Amino acid sequence: MEQLGLTEWYDIARDTNWTPRYVPEDELFPDDMSDSFQVPRENWERFDEPYKITYREYVDVQHKKDDDAYSVRAALTRSRFFDEADPGWRTSMLLHYASITIGELGAGLAEAKMARFGKAPGMRNMATFGLLDEIRHTQMQLYFAHENISKDPRFDWVQKTYHSDHWAAIAARANLDDVELSRDAASIGLMLTFATEEGLTNLQFLGLSAEAHRAGDYNFSNLIANIQTDETRHAQIGAAVLRVLIENGKTEEAQRLVDIAWWRQWRLFATVGGPTVDYYTPLHAREKSFKEFALEFIAQQFERVLLDLGLDLPWFWDDFLESLDTVSHATHLAFWFWRAAQFWNPTAGVSKAEREWLEEKYPGWNDTFGASWDVIERNLSEGREDLTFPQCVPAICNTCAITMLGTPNRGISYRNYWSHYEGRRYVFCSRPCKWIFDEEPERIAGHRSVVDRLYNGVIQPPTLDGFLRYMGLPPEERGQDAHDYSWVAERIDELG
Ligand code: MN
Ligand code: MN
Repeated sequence: MEQLGLTEWYDIARDTNWTPRYVPEDELFPDDMSDSFQVPRENWERFDEPYKITYREYVDVQHKKDDDAYSVRAALTRSRFFDEADPGWRTSMLLHYASITIGELGAGLAEAKMARFGKAPGMRNMATFGLLDEIRHTQMQLYFAHENISKDPRFDWVQKTYHSDHWAAIAARANLDDVELSRDAASIGLMLTFATEEGLTNLQFLGLSAEAHRAGDYNFSNLIANIQTDETRHAQIGAAVLRVLIENGKTEEAQRLVDIAWWRQWRLFATVGGPTVDYYTPLHAREKSFKEFALEFIAQQFERVLLDLGLDLPWFWDDFLESLDTVSHATHLAFWFWRAAQFWNPTAGVSKAEREWLEEKYPGWNDTFGASWDVIERNLSEGREDLTFPQCVPAICNTCAITMLGTPNRGISYRNYWSHYEGRRYVFCSRPCKWIFDEEPERIAGHRSVVDRLYNGVIQPPTLDGFLRYMGLPPEERGQDAHDYSWVAERIDELG
């Protein structure tokens, strides 16, 4: 049988569309599933993704990528890397796998919605590949992480986190429900593929892959770089959707959704990536600070993409840039202080050499965050571990569902923001989180953080033990200092 050359059939095939005769158009593509912007269907025909691929090519390329990842894994299977890895690196890996793996499956559901309800045939085509990509990411990361369970049972959190009521799972679900799962296909194109994948995934996957390589974890480094090549391909749905919306006079509305999604996802990525890059990764493996990675991947690369496409920088861009000086430190300090509430073992990461690195990367660190660690170290060196645990639950933001952050010794311990809605006060960690709530309070007001659940009687008994058990943490699973306080000894002289 004669085969047609690619150019002879590809454009026709990827643009195949039809006019429904048995159901009205709005039943086949309801606005709230397809396109809340209500761009006429014929205008969606102009959707054009820059990088095109056929199913045959897709399968061939993905097969080779799988081969590559699994053969590196097989070659390193007898390596003792994990057994000998610094506890901080194990924590980095666990935090990555537990926060990302099942989230990939959620992204797959969002891709599936675009594959069914996207109004442009090219968008449905590309999203079908995106769905297959996300299934692959979930399966590979579950499989790769699974081999660590026999060495560290905490790795079962990779599978179970999203199914638990751990505070981080509640925060991630609230965020992903809003940004990826409860929106129409066109909005998902903006909020998932553009704001999240184009805007933020390089930070987690390329940044961490470089550090993994330096740490000597070639298996993990290779795996997540392999995954990121898929993200780069299906992320282009976002820019193509954005062009259609701008051509149809929807710039302002598109900007609003990009801003909402980007900030919500930034809060999550900073929460996972900040402590990982600046504290959990062993010093010799660090390539850059979290702030440097964010400046490279977001403030340089993503900023340019946004402006080139005809959007503005989000209105809160200065808040974002300012937060780069403190977000990783404040998040990390909160995780370590409330370590019993984590399923991972936080490292302190404040030995003499690490303090020098932190001061160099973040001038002023010693006088702010360093001063808090001085107090912790002094208490530990005097045998007063009891003073290093919190006496209360943290304040949690009603939008991002992540703990409020502040900077020690800066006069104001933390700035908070609030709104009143239907008889209740809601508190927020930042101006953008308040703005997101005020834009559509009905989407967010019903959400209950783990602290809300403690005070409204859902968590029983309402004690610290009851609180931790509710989050899936019996005593043997509660986080502990990853190095068992061994870092305090070298600081005793300096503390005097
Ligand atoms: Mn993915
Ligand atoms: Mn993706």
